Parts: sequence; C-alpha cells; structure tokens
Amino acid sequence: MSNEKKLEIIRHSLSHILATAVIELYPEAKLAIGPAIDNGFYYDIDFGEQKIGDAELKALEKKMEHLLKQNIKFERSEMPIDEAIAKEKLAGQIYKQELIEDLKKSGETSVSYYASGKFTDLCKGPHIENTNEIAKGSWKLNKVAGAYWRGDEKNKMLTRIYGLAFSTKEELDNYLTMLAEAEKRDHRKLGKELGLFIFSDLVGPGLPIYTEKGAIVRREIINYSNTLQRSIGYQEVHTPNITKADLFKVSGHYEKYKEDMLRVVSNYTDEEYFLKPMNCPQHTQIYASQTRSYRDLPIRISDFANLYRDEKPGELSGLTRLRCFCQDDGHCFCREDQIKEEFVAVLGIIKQAMKTYEMSYNVRLSLWDENKKEKYLGDAATWEKSQKILEEILIENNISYYKAEGEAAIYGPKMDLISKDSLGREWQISTIQLDFIMPQRFGLTFIDSDGKEKTPVMIHRAIVGSPERFMGILIEHYAGNFPAWLAPVQVKILAVGEGHIEYCEELAKKFKSEEVRVEIDANNETVGNKTRKAVNEKIPYILVVGDNEIASGKLAVRERGSREAKEMEFADLVKIIKKTI
Ligand SMILES: [Zn+2]
Ligand SMILES: [Zn+2]
Repeated sequence: MSNEKKLEIIRHSLSHILATAVIELYPEAKLAIGPAIDNGFYYDIDFGEQKIGDAELKALEKKMEHLLKQNIKFERSEMPIDEAIAKEKLAGQIYKQELIEDLKKSGETSVSYYASGKFTDLCKGPHIENTNEIAKGSWKLNKVAGAYWRGDEKNKMLTRIYGLAFSTKEELDNYLTMLAEAEKRDHRKLGKELGLFIFSDLVGPGLPIYTEKGAIVRREIINYSNTLQRSIGYQEVHTPNITKADLFKVSGHYEKYKEDMLRVVSNYTDEEYFLKPMNCPQHTQIYASQTRSYRDLPIRISDFANLYRDEKPGELSGLTRLRCFCQDDGHCFCREDQIKEEFVAVLGIIKQAMKTYEMSYNVRLSLWDENKKEKYLGDAATWEKSQKILEEILIENNISYYKAEGEAAIYGPKMDLISKDSLGREWQISTIQLDFIMPQRFGLTFIDSDGKEKTPVMIHRAIVGSPERFMGILIEHYAGNFPAWLAPVQVKILAVGEGHIEYCEELAKKFKSEEVRVEIDANNETVGNKTRKAVNEKIPYILVVGDNEIASGKLAVRERGSREAKEMEFADLVKIIKKTI
C-alpha cells in the first residue's frame, strides 16, 4: 500500500474516532458523513441546539486522545439493508437512514458497518486495524464550520468539525507552521496593507478594482508574459468582451459550459449574448477571416481581453477565484507536423517564467476520463491520438511527468504545470492544450502542399494563467516583498527636513527619467517614522536625504531586509535596479 493511501485510511479512521467521541459526549447527536480530505478529515454532525465552540472542540479532542490510547480495533460486519434501515430509524440517525435508503434504491441488498469500540458506523471501509497505528501527536481538531446536508442550501445546516492528520507529529508541526506563515502572508490582508486592490459592495463580489499600485504589478506581469510569448512568435490581438451565443453553440461551450457563463441582455435584439469565459472561439474567427496556406502556419495569437465566469459567490476568495480576470492566453493554429515544435517552444518560455518567479514545478499530463466520455467533445480515436502525441513530447524531451485522468479540457488533453510556492503549496498555473476538435467544429481549413484542404490543429496555452490570480499567488509567495522589477514603488526618498524637499524632487525627476518608479515622503515626521512606514510598504530601496547627502551628492541607500544604509552613487543604484528588471 502506498504511503498516501495509508494516510488516507488513517485520516478516515480518525473521523470514526471523532464520531465515537461525539456520541459519548453528546448521545443525541445525529451523524451525517465523515470522509478523509486533503491534510485531514471532517465529520458533519447535527448537534441539535448544542453549539460547538473552542471549548467543546478541546473536550472532543481530549476524548479522542483517550479513545486512541485504548488500542481500539476496527471490525467490519455486514447487515441486510432493511435491517440496517430499521436499526438507524430506531436510533434516530435520520441521515444514516437516508443514506442507506438511497443505497437500497440503487440496488444494494446489504451494507457494511465498522465497529470501533462501542461505536459502529455505516461505512464501505477500508480502515486501519487498530488505533495504535496512529502516531501520537500526528493529528488535531482544528476548526468548526457550517455545512448543508448533502451540500444543498435547501437542507439543514449541520456542524462540520475539521481535523488535521499526518503520518508523524513532525509533519503535522510543519504543516501548522506553514499555515501560520500562510495566514501572515494572506494576499487579501497584504493586498489591503500594500494598497494593491479593493473590493466594493457596489461593484460586486469577485470583481476586484486595482489601485494605481496594483495596476502596476498586474501590468508588469502582463508585460513580462508578452515579452516571453513575442519571443516565440505570438502576436497580440484585441477582442470584444461579449459575443453572440451562436459562437458558443459552434464551439460547444453553450452545451457544456453554459452554467458558468454570464448572460447579457440587449435592449435592441432578442438574440442571446454572453460575456465570454475564454478567448478561443473568437480567435478561430481571426483564423477563418482569410484563406490560409500550409506556408502561413503556424498562426500564433495572444490576447489579454477580460474574461468572465459566473462563479458561485460563496466560492469567491480574494484574487484566487474571480468573476472577472484576464489570461496571458494564446492560441496557435498549426499543421500536425508542427505540434511538437510548438509545444517545446511554449514549454521553454514557461520554464523561463518559473525561473524568473523562483518557483519549482511538476508537469502533469491531464487525460480524459474514459468512463465519462459524455463530458468531452470528439471521438475516442482523436482523443487517443492527441494523448499519445503529448506523451511522446514529454518522453522525447526527457521531461518527468505524472498522469491525471479526468483532468483534460473538454476538447483535448493538456500539459499542466503544477508550481510550488515558497511555502511548498501547489498551484496550477501554466497549461498547454492540444485541440483537434474546435478547428473541426468551426470548419477551419488550410490548403496543404498537395493542394488539398486540411484542418489545422489548435494549441491553447497560458504562461502564468490569469495575471490577477497569479498576483494573488505572488503576494503570498514573496510575502509582499516583490522583486524590484515587480514592486509598484521601487525607490522611496525620505526628506529629513523641509529644507531638503526640493533636492528630493530633483532626485525623483532623475529616477523617473531612468524609468524607475519613485515616491517621496515629505511629511513632517521623524526620519524614524518615515523609515518604519517605508519598511512596512516593503519598498526595495529607501533613500534618506539630509544635509550630508546634499553636500556629498551621494545617496544613502537602505536595501530591503538590511538595517543599515549604504553610501552609493546615483548611477550605481540605477544600474542595480535596471539589472533586476
Ligand atoms: Zn469508515
Ligand atoms: Zn483557448
């Protein structure tokens, strides 16, 4: 058994022990479900009138510890389904009863139970054999939240108790340290402190407004992606944000993706319009606007148009999930014999980007789910062909990868880059996708060397994905300490007294003419206060200007992270800053 599988079983077994503790302390509680999840487990419970706060959580944790020490065995048993329904009914366990009734409807004739001590829970298993397999100090209960029965807001709100669980105490401790650090770095908190973006109730959830400073960071991310993609032949286009439904009917999004699109109503027509959730369908129209020959290919298009997705308001969070964002999106229309070269070129610039942002990554080959063919467009033969091509590219270029079934796009398989930030958290950022289907649906063609009409292949790709979401990730990755090239303010000049302001302004002008982003603090405060403020703003270079600096013509430069100022010539500092850019 893999370590991962074993850990999952431990996590799920802990949820049973939690339920055991709950029933001992609150015999009237009604249990719903208790699965293992990433990093731990939870159990949904109906406590009736009883409120579960920190004190109750502590008491439950104590009870669990006590139970675990008794080396409780997990024992499986089977029960005829009607007997199980009667048993749960008698015990007043209405949620378990409902679950078993559903199993009966789907044709089951018996169910399995797992006993752990005096408590027995409906469960498919598997479980550990004995609680002594759980390492001491490797788990804890960490929070309580509300959750609707079966995730449906029409149902009753239950209490969800979350626990964390790892293989060892050390792993749990590391995870807790990481959580505490992540909380300090939370981009929603830091974004506000650094004045990068705001949300307004009048504008709406998931629709951030970038301030001057946030707009600079966003623009720098976009500019860098643009520089990279231009280097491999992508040319930027500009496209409208709304589109007739007809376009999405041809692309297939209307059929498979309508729930996630925002509808637009016109005063002048009954035609259906949507805010676009992606650029690809429109880009096919650029391709289709001319007759193409095999010599014209590849055609490479990039676009930073705003995109809109109708995310559930409850799932929106800071910049990581938005209803309005853009992407460093690109589409390449090419011949089949050009696929490999195009993929390798894109992988090259993605690699460069990850190096610049100081992130490591793994490549995931995202395949379709053969058992859910209805979720995808196109036939099995096309899917097999395109999946094989992607795997060949990875093997031929010695790129290590892992496969993930069911992670493909609706029109084709993908290579996704799963990047790791400075806290070791994983993010899906870059993607390259192969698509034989959309060009067919739009009837795109080119005249091949033999004079025959053929269908081009479409490659969809993104370098950092959405610059807005990536900004959120970067804020946490850098803990707000943007490298100078990304920092909204690169140099802050602090005037010691009123008599020094004029000189500061001249100096600022010189920086601006070198395209360095500079700000002056001329407030009537002590230098100590001004320095503290600039440090909190995480400015890469802080300059203090007083009599000495004016007399010597040199700069007193305090670099971020250092406590002392260094004497430097203006030209040398500009050189240092430009080097990072
Ligand atoms: Zn179980
Ligand atoms: Zn696309």
